[in-house]
Amino acid sequence: MSAELAPYMAAVAVVGAAAITWAARVYPAPARPAEDNKPAPARDELWLACHTTRCAHMTTRHDHTAAGPVCRGCHTVKEVQQ
Ligand SMILES: [Zn+2]
Repeated sequence: MSAELAPYMAAVAVVGAAAITWAARVYPAPARPAEDNKPAPARDELWLACHTTRCAHMTTRHDHTAAGPVCRGCHTVKEVQQ
């Protein structure tokens, strides 16, 4: 690059950067929908009604196991309804 072009190239760089920040201010990124803020449920998680005394018929989280869904509250294995 020649010496005469250096100030010109610097000015282009400054104007270019200003244009980019202006565009970022005028066109902000679209707001993300609320769903994106929720943590994704784990794939091996299942919500089932648990009818043991401890869980008192509440819907609780269950984990998928080979034996069937296991309640996280009372650790009982549920029979899978066919
Ligand atoms: Zn339970």
